[in-house]
Parts: sequence; C-alpha cells; structure tokens
Amino acid sequence: MIMATVAFVGCQVSKPNYESVNNYPVKSGSVKEVTYSPQQTDFSLWSPNADSVRLSLYESSEALEPIHTQWLKRQKDGSWQGSITGDWQGKFYSFRVWDDQRPMANDQQPKWELEETPGIFAVAVGVNGRRGAIIDMRSTDPEGWSNDRRPAMERQADAVVYELHHRDFSIDPSSGVRNRGKFLALTEHGTLSPQGLATGIDHLKELGVTHVQLLPSYDYGSIDETRLDDNRYNWGYDPINYNVPEGSYSTDPYDPAARIREFKQMIQALHEAGIRVILDVVYNHTFDVAHSNFTLTAPGYFYRTREDGSLGNASGCGNETASERPMMRKFMLESVRWWVEEYHLDGFRFDLMAIHDIETMNAIRAMLDEIDPTILLYGEGWAAETPQLEETLRPIKANCTKMPGIGAFSDEMRDGLRGPFSDDRVGAFLAGLPGNEQSIRFGLVGAVEHPGVELDKVNYSDKPWALQPTQLIAYVSCHDDMMLTDRLRASVKPADKGKKVIADDELMRLDKLAQTVVLTSQGLPFLWNGEELMRDKKGVHNSYCSPDSINAIDWTLKARNRDLCAYYAGLIALRKAHPAFRMGDADAVRKHLEFIDTPECTVAFCLKDNAGGDAWKEIVVLLNANRKPVEIALPTQEQYTAVVANGKVDQQGLGAYKEKAVVPAQSALILHL
Ligand code: CA
Repeated sequence: MIMATVAFVGCQVSKPNYESVNNYPVKSGSVKEVTYSPQQTDFSLWSPNADSVRLSLYESSEALEPIHTQWLKRQKDGSWQGSITGDWQGKFYSFRVWDDQRPMANDQQPKWELEETPGIFAVAVGVNGRRGAIIDMRSTDPEGWSNDRRPAMERQADAVVYELHHRDFSIDPSSGVRNRGKFLALTEHGTLSPQGLATGIDHLKELGVTHVQLLPSYDYGSIDETRLDDNRYNWGYDPINYNVPEGSYSTDPYDPAARIREFKQMIQALHEAGIRVILDVVYNHTFDVAHSNFTLTAPGYFYRTREDGSLGNASGCGNETASERPMMRKFMLESVRWWVEEYHLDGFRFDLMAIHDIETMNAIRAMLDEIDPTILLYGEGWAAETPQLEETLRPIKANCTKMPGIGAFSDEMRDGLRGPFSDDRVGAFLAGLPGNEQSIRFGLVGAVEHPGVELDKVNYSDKPWALQPTQLIAYVSCHDDMMLTDRLRASVKPADKGKKVIADDELMRLDKLAQTVVLTSQGLPFLWNGEELMRDKKGVHNSYCSPDSINAIDWTLKARNRDLCAYYAGLIALRKAHPAFRMGDADAVRKHLEFIDTPECTVAFCLKDNAGGDAWKEIVVLLNANRKPVEIALPTQEQYTAVVANGKVDQQGLGAYKEKAVVPAQSALILHL
C-alpha cells in the first residue's frame, strides 16, 4: 500500500438548498474528475446535491477492499474535491455519493449510499468500466503518435464515408487478420482472403473511401469483458463510459492502457493509409438509468422526465438525456473535444441526434470549426419516440436550416430507392416502381432548394431542409435494417415467376445502380460495409445482437464479386477526380445541375458548364431502374464519351454516344463532353 498524505482544496462550503435540478451550479473548469501527475493526483466529482462524497482507491479494478479512502470536500460549483500526494499511476478509483434525503433502504440505515461510480468522465477504466484507472495519458501514446496528422482534405464535400463494425469486419477467419474483431485489425496490412484478395485496411484503400465511420467504440455495457470467449455480439448502442474505448475490442480489457493505446494505433494506421475516422456517438441515452454514472453522481439531473415524473424515452431504450441542461451540454462539448484532441478523430455521427437540442449541436459545430472546419458532424435527424423537448428546439432533419455545417441522413433518398422503413417487402425505384423519381432527385441535389425537384412528390419532406448539399447524407443502406441484398430479395418480384427471389445477376445490377445514385449525389455519399461484397444478413432486419453467423463478413465473397468491388472503386475514383459531382455549394448546384425529363422509373441529370470547375464541360447521368432498356435524347448534338456503362467504370472511355443514348435495363450510364 502506498502511504499518502491527504490535502483538501478550498474552504468548507455548506449544502445549498436547491429547489430543483435546474438550480444546480455548473462545474467550473473541466468536467474530468481526475488530474494525474507523478507528484499528486487531484479528484473532482460534480454532485451538487450530495451530502457527502467518498473516494476509494484500489489495487485492481476487481479488488474488494480499498487501499485508501477519503472524504472529498464540497465546493461552490457543486463539485467535491480532494488530492492525494505521491505517484498513484496504475491504481484504480471510484466515488460513492451519499444522500441523506433519499428513501432509506431500511429504517436503521442513517444515510443512503449510492453504488460506486468512476464518475461521468473517466478517461481510463478497468474491466467492464466499473472503476476508473489513474493513468498518465502520454504513456498510452503509440510510437510516432505526436506526428499523427489527419489526412489532407480541402472541403467536407470531398468525403466518401464507409461505415463498419469492428467485429463484422474482421471476425471471420476468411479475413486473414490476426487480431480478429479488435481495434488492431485495422492496423494489419497485407491481409488476404483465402483466394488471395486484399482484406481489412488494404481493402479500404483499394475502394478509395476517405472516411470510415466506426459503430460505437466507446465503453458500452452489453458485452461482458470478462467473458470474451462467449463470442457475444452487440452493435454497442448502450453507453457506460463515454470517454474510454470499449474493452472487448482491445487485446486485454483488464489493462486500462491497452484499449487506449490500441485505439490510437488504429487511428494512426488509418491516417497513414489516407483515411479519416468518424466515431458514432450515443450521448442521447445510457445503457440503463438506475446504475448509470449520470445517476450515480447527480441523480435526476441528466435525464428528461415527463410531467408525471416518469422518464422520457425518445431513444426507445428506456431513457433520454437532457442536452439542454448546462452540465449535460458541457459534458457533450468536452467529450467531443476529448476525442478530437486525445484520439485525433476526424468526425462524429450523432445517434438519434434529434433527441438533443439545436443550441448544443451548434455549439459543438462552432467548437469543431475552431479546431478544423473539415471535421464532419452529422446525425440521425429523428428520434425513436417524441422527445421531452419543444419541437422548435430539436435538431430534427427539418431544422437543419438552423444548423449550418451539421448534416442529417436522408430517408427520402434511401426509401425512394429501396422502399419504406415500415415494411421490408415493399420496394421502390430499384424494384422498378414508378413514383419515387422526385424523392431521388431530392437526394441528388442534397436536399437544397432546386427548381428541378417537385416537392409535392417527394416522400417525407415537403420542403428543402438543407442550406448546403453537404448537409445531406446520401445512402441506401447502413447498419440498421436489412442489407441491400436482403432488401432487394425481399422486395423485388422475380421476373421468372418460377423463382422465389431475383437472380444474383439482377441483384448485382441493382446494387450497382443504387450506389451510382449515392455516389453521384451532391450530398455526402455513405456506404455500409460489405455492400460491395454482396454480403447478406440472411434476411435479418435488426441484427444488433445477432451472432457472427449473421453479422460477420465472409471475405470469400470478394472473389465472387470482384466486378462489383471494382465498380464501387471506379465510381469513387470518378467522384474524386471530378468536382462536378461534389460542388459543395447550393447556388452552384442550382446553376449547374439540371434534370432531364425522362420516362417512368428513370432519373437523368446534366452537370453543365464545367460544374464545380470540372475539366469536363458537361456530364450526363442516366439512371434506369426499368427491366427494359430506355432511350433518352441527349441535351446537345455533340458527341459524348461514356465513362460508366453496362456495369463498368472507365474514365478513359467506354464508347461514343450522339443525340441519344439507350440505357440498358437496371443500369446507369454516365457520359461526358
Ligand atoms: Ca464495455
């Protein structure tokens, strides 16, 4: 046991009488509870209504008995402080909040002691995140970390995002990865599928994506980190400690430094590969309420309640947090800053963003702009249920006009392509059904006002909701809902009445057509991992806790679908080479993007007059979802060169077209002058 002297900070403050949580003071300085130095460690827990707060130090995260305890001292800003001299690196800590006013467990118990908590802002934890760890963060930096830089990117409009889950991506032996299902999987180069094709990070480089978006990778609750051999799976939308990487993705969840160092190694490797990293953040709810770090430090403060006192449930998971309260807002701002500064992250995807409030989201954008305006910020502009906050204050999709620089996923384009969220068996444009053309146009222009979009024929939105096209996330599938392959099998009726599902060659044509829409949108294109491999999830709609047999990527698919991978890579390269596809400016989109009137189940547009400063004078994109070829008259009499045709992409040219073009069934044709 380390001998220590105990020093209190400041003078004694008596307990104020707060009439409601709305009167709680805001903590001054950082929300973080621990400041380490080799000479002394300082503790500071915000818990305004506590009657007393006790700090305990432990030899290990599982030890039953503390090696040291001390009472902390109340401060005017609602925090409780104490310091301990000596070098405590490697030890563990927790706080216990005492509240005289809470209902007694029994009449004999003089005080009500809450469960132990590492606080709300632990930056290092032991197994399962139960206790905090005292750590020198610099000791977690991999070699060369101080030289790590985010890959060059001039404008947000240049992004092509690829969403992935650590376990899906590399857990199958066919990935050829050593650290399967771990952060370190993304650091391994030279990994091959059984057929000798690149997997892992090399596969991402081949595709040419500019960003990966990681499914939740902070410490979450649904996987027991002491039983990793159980092979449990979860997406991770059940936060415990927001500012620490998840232990089950590290090689040793008991070692607090391992998850931190390995997460940084992953970022470093992706950055070296020219790929930026976006984190999926879930500040909108916690794993549970009774045992959450929010409840165990400041009961009643961090969650919204209904008028009858019951908890709001906009997350659909039993609770919703209250970003409009000053300490929750401060927590979110500081947490995002922590991930940017300590972990060098390049973007954030806010889960159920509409649960938060506009002021908080704008404050986060303003903070990120000061650090680097190319850091991406977008989220789901909807909630699972109605939040306990006035609608005008909510960052819903329709309020994006009040949130410059913050994007939202477009369900208009997604469902215009594949069919509604509510019924997997109902198709749309890709199923050859008319009536979805305007919803696709809405997505192609990036949800900005545009004369070529008939708003009364757009699904879900009756007015443009973006100020700039980069505010729209263009996608046809993500981790939610069915894989595109499953959805097409479920919703597209086979031409051959003797068959139950459409043939694989038709599936591939529709997959290519769908992503051509996504990758020619003026919004930010977003791909879900494995669509380029024709991965399926055996028809499972919500695979958040399905086993590897459903979720794992089988990398042997790559050999079978090389042509599809090449098409994705070709389209991404085409987009990167031609700024006309990513003008990034609403006025430019209105000026240079012109729709061409074409038959049912087709969408066509022209990017004219060297759009976005493009070297090509004019680009014509023709999208045909019909099961038959369609002839379309070209806008000028000049001779066009095809660069996308019949499921191939070649910037050097795929033949000449004059006056008219016949677009083959279920395919895209892209021509230029
Ligand atoms: Ca965990």
